[in-house]
Amino acid sequence: MKRVVIVGAGVIGLLLAKRLAREGIDTTVYESKRKISDNTAKASGIFSREGLSRLDVDWKDALVTTLNGATIFAGGESFKVETKGDKAYVLDRGMFAELCAKEAREAGAKIVLGKRLSKEQILEIKKDTNNIVVGADGAVSMVASAAGFPGIGEHILTYKAEYEGVDVPDLHKVELFFSNKIAKRFFGWTVPYSRTKMEIGIGISNLSKKTSTAAFNEFLENPIIKNRISGAKKTAGYASMIPLSARKKTVMDNVLLVGDAAGQVKATTGGGIIFGAACAGVAADAIIGNIRIGAPLSSYEKTWRKRFGLDLRMHKMLHSYYSSMGDRGFLIAIKAAKLAGFEQFFSKYGDMDRPSLMLKRFFFRGMSK
Ligand SMILES: Cc1cc2nc3c(=O)[nH]c(=O)nc-3n(C[C@H](O)[C@H](O)[C@H](O)COP(=O)(O)OP(=O)(O)OC[C@H]3O[C@@H](n4cnc5c(N)ncnc54)[C@H](O)[C@@H]3O)c2cc1C
Repeated sequence: MKRVVIVGAGVIGLLLAKRLAREGIDTTVYESKRKISDNTAKASGIFSREGLSRLDVDWKDALVTTLNGATIFAGGESFKVETKGDKAYVLDRGMFAELCAKEAREAGAKIVLGKRLSKEQILEIKKDTNNIVVGADGAVSMVASAAGFPGIGEHILTYKAEYEGVDVPDLHKVELFFSNKIAKRFFGWTVPYSRTKMEIGIGISNLSKKTSTAAFNEFLENPIIKNRISGAKKTAGYASMIPLSARKKTVMDNVLLVGDAAGQVKATTGGGIIFGAACAGVAADAIIGNIRIGAPLSSYEKTWRKRFGLDLRMHKMLHSYYSSMGDRGFLIAIKAAKLAGFEQFFSKYGDMDRPSLMLKRFFFRGMSK
């Protein structure tokens, strides 16, 4: 009987493990960290309401706050986007990952903590054709390099810190700061945790030849940020990275890549959980089909690209568009969008994850009126 070895107990590996174990498939997850929640705060925890409702996880205990909009800063001016009702949630990433691990274990998956698989060990597991190997090991995937998958061209380098003692202006809004000078090809942000606690972060392209910490220090000089953290205490800081595009291949022989390892990330915001989870669902179907009836694992690649490839490409196009604009150009574009009534459009048809669904809803409902 075939068994599945998943490398990486991030949220995507854990969701896949749960799905497979529920089907009675022998599933083991190897994780280098000693605790599931360790270092998970390197990423933010923003999830669209719709996307989260599609994940099969009881996430309520991890809720930090709800979001109903954003304030966007560009070219020295600001612009508020407000939605009717909550459109997104901020979750505690550590607690969310622990909840995913609990559900995976309850389904029967084995999770081995404190075990970092080396390239040699991965190749040894892969050699046994009774094993299906899944690389769910993040943006710098050892499985991908060991098995010879094509690389990912551009990454966003990030630095994120948490501050206490802040006068948080709005518990339900994120702030986005666009400046190609400081945050080349990405942006800076703040995310509220409570009335007195928030995260401040920044991302820059690895092509910009600047470290994320250098960009972060420049960002702290922004008068708005300076004002926010005056008298506040930095309690934590993390550097990380986000892959900006999907790999050209995500299945080879008995090896599949999912989540950040595959580059299944929204290039506009760096959000990777909702698409990664959806693709993990497709991977689970392919693995189950392979084990039960010998169906080819390559159906994973075909199916996820067919279902989500268009949306991921649309995010990539939007990212290329905003990252090529100067600060003034960006501000003019969002002001024009406001004048054209795009705020109401997003409130009504908006889907933070799937721009193609948003357009379909717009045309279908618009025409059926
Ligand atoms: C600053 C920042 C902010 C973000 N904000 C959001 C957000 O608001 N919303 C959102 O949806 N996404 C966000 N993301 C993206 C999101 O965090 C990732 O898409 C998501 O974590 C990917 O999950 P994963 O399971 O694929 O990989 P990871 O979470 O990276 O997990 C991979 C796991 O594999 C383990 N591992 C690696 N190599 C090995 C090995 N050789 N052996 C054993 N274990 C190994 C690692 O320890 C890790 O636990 C953000 C990312 C960053 C950096």
